[in-house]
Amino acid sequence: MAPDVSDPLLLGQRVVAILESGLRTATYKLATLMALIEHCIENYPAEPMGRLSVPIPALAHRVLRIYWQQIRPFDGHELRQSTQPRARILLAANMLRDAATVSRPPASLEVARMRAPHAYERAIEEITLCLAQQPLHRLQRLPGKTTSDPFLYEDSFLHDQISRSALRAQGDCIVLKPGVAAGLARLAGLLKPALEIMWVNDVRRINKFLDAEVPDVAGHLFGRERAVLSAVREPFKDAFGPHCFYCGTRLPTDNPIDHVLPWSIVGIDGLANLVLACVRCNSDKGGALPAVPLVDRVLAHERNRLLEQIAITLEWPTQRDRVVAAAHGIYRGQPSGVPTWSGYRKSERLDVAFIPRWG
Ligand SMILES: [Zn+2]
Repeated sequence: MAPDVSDPLLLGQRVVAILESGLRTATYKLATLMALIEHCIENYPAEPMGRLSVPIPALAHRVLRIYWQQIRPFDGHELRQSTQPRARILLAANMLRDAATVSRPPASLEVARMRAPHAYERAIEEITLCLAQQPLHRLQRLPGKTTSDPFLYEDSFLHDQISRSALRAQGDCIVLKPGVAAGLARLAGLLKPALEIMWVNDVRRINKFLDAEVPDVAGHLFGRERAVLSAVREPFKDAFGPHCFYCGTRLPTDNPIDHVLPWSIVGIDGLANLVLACVRCNSDKGGALPAVPLVDRVLAHERNRLLEQIAITLEWPTQRDRVVAAAHGIYRGQPSGVPTWSGYRKSERLDVAFIPRWG
């Protein structure tokens, strides 16, 4: 029987059901789902009940980006993400990082790709094959079951020995069933934090030395370090003035850097998604969805021209295209009337009839 995935709640329940298991041997399934959700937000289908074709190499790029921040040492240790001795995705990520290290490691996957394009291609090829043979092939099996229940995508062509050329012959993609892409995008705010919690638990279980006292594993795996973001503070102040993007107040030397589209939902830290903020606005906004006029301002072309300069100096891409795509995906997936954050202690209701065509 064809499952009804037009109801996002049912879809969400089924996704959680395939993950409810303390027996995962690697975090790959979680990474795959997280990457899939991101892909759906940034490629929101024109019709909510439409199918969406997802190129596996594109998924591999997103999976690699998620692990990219996680492969840096934690407390002097390299965290394991698998109980297997040979963790293919991490090996691929580490080889790329080594190839792209010139006096210092690349600050982001995008920089590594620019510095070492061939090593990047090799990593994507390896991760594409690994995703097809392992997590994509096994994702839709309920714990303890040997057969698949393909409610997200048809998976009968996948198996644990599939070759790279056989995968290409299949179009190198999975095709999400009608309604799945829009449903996953709409559920992002609920599913992503749940996946992160499961992931932190897995990493704690796989790395026995992480006892309960070890601080902030979650921050290491998924947070954005203030120290990393602080590199943009001075260039932003030079370009835009030392003022809070939201309320205009004059900023002290150590003000926060804010993700306009929430980090917890879209995970984009390209310059186009970053602004200077005061502590008051930053903490009041939290993970809330910003009001549409704030997105207009952050994507303004004058701002972007200045960002392009900073991007070159800092070796930090703006990722404006991703921010535009994610904004479309997030707002189009919302019901009209949902409250959005429009400033300190202010909110306004979203009117879906007035979502601009950002571009
Ligand atoms: Zn402010």
